This record gives sequence, C-alpha cells and structure tokens, in this order.
Amino acid sequence: MDKVAELEKLKQEMADDKSLPLQESNLVFGEGSPDCEVLFIGEAPGFNEDIQKRPFVGRAGQLLRAGIRKLGWQEEDVYITNIVKRRPPENRDPSPEEIESYKPYLARQINIINPKIIVLLGRFSMNYFLPMARIMRDQGKLFRVEKYFVLPMLHPAAALRGNEAMKMFKETFLKLPAVLEKVNSGKLEEAEPEKVQKQQKLEDVQTKLF
Ligand code: URA
Repeated sequence: MDKVAELEKLKQEMADDKSLPLQESNLVFGEGSPDCEVLFIGEAPGFNEDIQKRPFVGRAGQLLRAGIRKLGWQEEDVYITNIVKRRPPENRDPSPEEIESYKPYLARQINIINPKIIVLLGRFSMNYFLPMARIMRDQGKLFRVEKYFVLPMLHPAAALRGNEAMKMFKETFLKLPAVLEKVNSGKLEEAEPEKVQKQQKLEDVQTKLF
C-alpha cells in the first residue's frame, strides 16, 4: 500500500473509532505531502479548523503558512497536523487523557510519513517527544529522539501574543532550511556521534544536537 492509501486507511479508522474523545467536533486529520521532508505538529484544531476540517487555517495557521512560504517552500510540500485531532470546546488546552487517546494514531501517522525533521509547535507536541523539555529553554534546539530529528519551536499562537515571542518564532523558523540540509547531509551524526546515543527510555533520548 502506498503512503496516500495508508493515511486514508488511518483516517477512516479514526473516523470509525467512537471511543476517541471530543466526538462532538469534526475530525481534522492533517494535510500536505506524505512524501514531505518536514512534518509540523501542533496541538489541536481550533474554531476555524473545526469548520474547515483543515489544520492551521486560523490566525496562527496564517502565520505558520506564511512562514513556510517565506522559506521558499510550498505548503503542499510539507505536512501539517496536530496531536489531538478534534477541537476541544472553547479552544481550551487538550487534557492529558485526550492527548493519550490520540497519541497512538499520531504515532502511526508519523511512521507512515517518515519525515526527515519533525517541527514541534508548542509545548504539547514538544512533550510528546521530549517529556522533560521546556519550551522557552529548548525551542530552536534540534534533538534526536529514536529515529527522528525533532525541532521544538514556539506555537504560532504564542508568537502572535508578543514581540519577543514573535522574534523567537521567526528566528527558529528561518533556521529550518539549514537544519534540514544538515540532517540530509548525514553530517550531524558523523560530527557528533557521542550525542546520538541509542537508549531505551524516551526521556533518556533527548539528545541535543545543536
Ligand atoms: N492551533 C493548533 O495547535 N492547531 C491548529 O490546527 C490550529 C491552531
């Protein structure tokens, strides 16, 4: 089965899984190229996303998508999704139970796409990979978690709340092509083999590369 078919099957499974929380909202599965090098993962859909059944189409989404285009990339060439795939009421934060319920589906989605870099937008998606990380301390740093390179950055909604946060968001965003080039060159691991350790527990594999 090709990636498109595998993702479609996964989406259907999610739609059929009535045990998932937030059934009153629409399923916002994600969109973009399954062959992408860069996968963006946010928190959960908001009001606009729920209506359009598309991730990141509101104000924060406009900032994210403008950032992607600013790099000279096409929105269609990356993949954009969320951990929790239905909108929590009143746009509240997703609960730990909601995150737990949606996690196995996210894990399968990531495995199908198998991107070169995963950009973690905000603390919820960061903590999925890096439970010990702190967003203000660790945003903009590249980590290796098992086979994935992950780059936490501020959520675009946080960037919209203040000048400092916006500056930080933009600075990290503009690093993306260089980070991708390094990952693709394979030189990261050659250059710093001691930092790429194979360890068992997720919290032990927060391997900062730069
Ligand atoms: N915020 C998110 O985390 N995801 C969206 O899809 C929209 C806003």
